[in-house]
Amino acid sequence: MLTLIKANPNKLPAGEVWLVGAGPGDPELISVKGLRLIRQADVLVYDRLVACELLTEARADAQMIDVGKRPGHHPVPQHQIEAVLILHARAGKSVVRLKGGDPFVFGRGGEEMLSLKAAGIPVHVVPGITAASACAATAGFPLTQRNIATSVCLTTAHYADEKDHTHWQSLAADRSRTLVFYMGLASLAKIRSGLMQHGLPASTPAALIENGSRDEQRTCYCTVSDIDWVARNHKLQSPCLLVIGDVVALAAQNNNTAQTANALSA
Ligand code: SAH
Repeated sequence: MLTLIKANPNKLPAGEVWLVGAGPGDPELISVKGLRLIRQADVLVYDRLVACELLTEARADAQMIDVGKRPGHHPVPQHQIEAVLILHARAGKSVVRLKGGDPFVFGRGGEEMLSLKAAGIPVHVVPGITAASACAATAGFPLTQRNIATSVCLTTAHYADEKDHTHWQSLAADRSRTLVFYMGLASLAKIRSGLMQHGLPASTPAALIENGSRDEQRTCYCTVSDIDWVARNHKLQSPCLLVIGDVVALAAQNNNTAQTANALSA
């Protein structure tokens, strides 16, 4: 029994929005608070990466709004998502905006929070387990480790415009930093060459984790020199996370699954 949980009102306050992290895919990896909010909300606005089991927890009369896709498979534009949140909050509804992972890690939660605040709508943020934590845990390596990695960088090579804003020199310079690339699948060749041209050794361990924490998770262990080849060879699909750094090699010492996956991708 979670006796420490604050007494919860049966009904959420009207006209407010909660940006809730749904976690990485395994529905059990949502927070207790996040689950309670799903169960109480009048309106649920959710993304493609949210586990469908969590959606079944909503009230039978809750309004469910999928902004992950629309006919033609294009995601709903960000300004429209923000408009939907504002519309329902202004109509006096309690709105839960459910996002994959953590709302503030490449989740555009910051943009939504600012729009809601600008519209005068109270907004609350409930953190979630981000893909980096979940993928490291399920792939069997830590993100930091004494004497191996003293910092972690959550980054991307994917930008709103077509330009490359990545500071490759800085990313390649620090061997004691674990690099985690979100949305990296389409840019693996660019990531490989950017890092190696700036001095990251070709033998640096890397892992590609597809569908981290879900039943269908696939993990490929390789070196930074091979990331694009391995992804092509295994036909890896989104969502896929790339982790680069010496900590990844600890997976091989950690469990047999890692060794099997390693052998598969060799
Ligand atoms: N807010 C999310 C990230 C959204 S950006 C979070 O905190 O996790 C989307 C990217 O996250 C994907 O392209 C992928 O790189 C990564 N991602 C999200 N869920 C993932 C999962 N279950 N397995 C692997 N990568 C994942």
